[in-house]
Amino acid sequence: MSNSMYKYLFGPIPSRRLGMSLGLDLVPKKVCSIDCVYCEVGKTTELSINREDYIKLEDIKAELTHYFENNPSPDYVTITASGEPTLNIHLNEILEFIKENKNGIPVALITNGTLLYDPKVREAIMLTDLVLPSLDAATEKVFRKINRPHKDLDFGNYIQGLIDFGKEYKGKMWLEVFILPGYNDSEHELAELKKLILKIQPTSVQINTLDRPGTVPNLRGATSEELEKVKDFWQMDNVEIIAKPKKNKIVQSYRKDTDSAILETVVRRPCTVEDLTEMLGTPACEIQASLQKLEAEGKIEKMEQERGSFYQIKGR
Ligand code: SF4
Repeated sequence: MSNSMYKYLFGPIPSRRLGMSLGLDLVPKKVCSIDCVYCEVGKTTELSINREDYIKLEDIKAELTHYFENNPSPDYVTITASGEPTLNIHLNEILEFIKENKNGIPVALITNGTLLYDPKVREAIMLTDLVLPSLDAATEKVFRKINRPHKDLDFGNYIQGLIDFGKEYKGKMWLEVFILPGYNDSEHELAELKKLILKIQPTSVQINTLDRPGTVPNLRGATSEELEKVKDFWQMDNVEIIAKPKKNKIVQSYRKDTDSAILETVVRRPCTVEDLTEMLGTPACEIQASLQKLEAEGKIEKMEQERGSFYQIKGR
C-alpha cells in the first residue's frame, strides 16, 4: 500500500479548527441524502437514505492501520465523505476500531444531520468527540430549495433528530449554518433559525458560506459584511464566522508526495493554487510545478471561474 494513494484516507490537512486533520472518506462520490445547491463535491448522483455497506470494513481498517503504523498521529481524525458519512452502515465499527487502536486521537464527524432522526444513527456516533451537523433552513420551503432532500426525508423529523441528538450527546456539537444570500438570509428565516438553534443547543454555531464553485450557476457566497449582519441579528454568544480562514505563512511541507496529495484533494473538490498551498502546506511554486505536470499527463484540468482558476480531476 505504501506506494499507492490511499483510497479512503486523505491529508492530513492543516485546519484552523482541528489542527492537523486526517480525513476519512466513508461513502463513494456522490451518495447523499440531500443535494445541496452549494455542494462542493458536485451533484448528488445517488440520492439515498439507506445505510449500506458502501466500503468494505476490512479495507478501511487496513488503511487506518497502515497510516497509524507509518505516520505521526494527527490531531484529529475527521470522518467526512464525498457525500453523507452516516450512510455508511459500518460507522460505529469504524469508530470502535479507531478508539481501540488510537485511543488518544479525537474523532470528528462532519454530517448533514438529516439521518439523526434514526436512533440507530445517533447511537452509532456516540464514540465521536465532536460532531459538526448542518442546519441551513428553518422552514420546509427553504430546506427544499437549498438542500433538495430525498423524497422520504421529513423536515420535522430531521429537526427533531438534531434536538434529540443535542440532548443525548456528551461530546461537542458545532452546528454549521451555510448562509446563501437570497435563500436563507431573510429576517423571517433568520429569526426562525435562531429559535431552532436555541432548541438544539449546540456547543457553538459556525457561520459559513460558499467559497468554491457549486452545482448551481450564479449562486453567490455572502460577503463578510453580510455574515457579520447575521451574527449581529442573532445576538447569541456562541456564534462564530468560519468562512475563509486567514492565510498562514507556511514553512515546511506536510507531505513529500505532492502529486498524490493534490490528486487526493482535487478529487474531492475543485481547488485553486492558493487553496492547495494552504491545505497541503506546500510552497506555491511546488504546487504549480505539480499541477503543470498533472495537467500535461491528462490527470487534471483547469476550469476558469469568476474567482480564478480551479483545478479538478479531468472529466469530472
Ligand atoms: S450534505 Fe454535504 S455532500 Fe451532501 S449535498 Fe450537501 S454539501 Fe454535498
